[in-house]
Amino acid sequence: QKESPVVLQCDEVTVDFDGFKAVQGMNFSLTRGELRFLIGPNGAGKTTMLDVICGKVKPADGKVLFSGSVDITRKKEHQIAELGIGRKFQTPSIFPSLTVMENFEIAMKQNRGVFAAMRAKMRAEDRERIQAQLELVGLSGKAGWRAGDLSHGEKQWLEIGMMLLQEPEILLLDEPVAGMTDGETEKTGELLQHIRKTQSIVVVEHDMEFVRSFASKVTVMHEGKLLKEGSMEEVQRDDRVAEVYLGK
Ligand code: ADP
Repeated sequence: QKESPVVLQCDEVTVDFDGFKAVQGMNFSLTRGELRFLIGPNGAGKTTMLDVICGKVKPADGKVLFSGSVDITRKKEHQIAELGIGRKFQTPSIFPSLTVMENFEIAMKQNRGVFAAMRAKMRAEDRERIQAQLELVGLSGKAGWRAGDLSHGEKQWLEIGMMLLQEPEILLLDEPVAGMTDGETEKTGELLQHIRKTQSIVVVEHDMEFVRSFASKVTVMHEGKLLKEGSMEEVQRDDRVAEVYLGK
């Protein structure tokens, strides 16, 4: 039996915001093809962990290793993105006045590292990849739409599609289904199931129904620390987890 390789490993990560430890000695590791949920009450340090992984926040202590051995703890945000870690924030960073297709083209050109992105030429294979990605995220019928006119859910999918064009090995998603309708949430679930066939995903999520709809491992954080890790059933049975969620 062969174990999946570790694509991300956080060792004893501590984040200090002017004396306040938002994350304290956090350990976290992710294997290839894994879809992991990071849960916990507000202020637990979940978003800060994503910030550490993508290089936005530098830890005061600890280490972040990518792909088993690449130490990315001190690397810059853009270097980490280039290595293959994509981050999606709660507010989509799309170009609202451009069409869906134009947004995809920009993401595609960025992937090729072309500085003058708008002038770069599209190759036939790029077109095919864009088409495949449009279909994957369910926007092939709306390629000519202004991105700003899409529904809330569609904007999120557009951004996920743009991230995928940059071929990250790991996707970091912060509350991807927040504000979505039930139908949109379901579609997003299907999309994540599809993406995990080729990529690893970490999702910070508050929607427990959504988390329960996957048979995925869950990491519970509380006060900057790892509280519990396991299946949703396992973490729900844990008394300490019940305690920190009490009143919710
Ligand atoms: P979560 O995502 O689990 O809700 P966060 O990671 O956003 O938690 O925040 C963890 C703690 O760190 C919170 O108490 C928050 O107020 C604090 N925090 C987050 N970012 C900063 C910052 N830039 N400066 C100071 N405190 C921060």
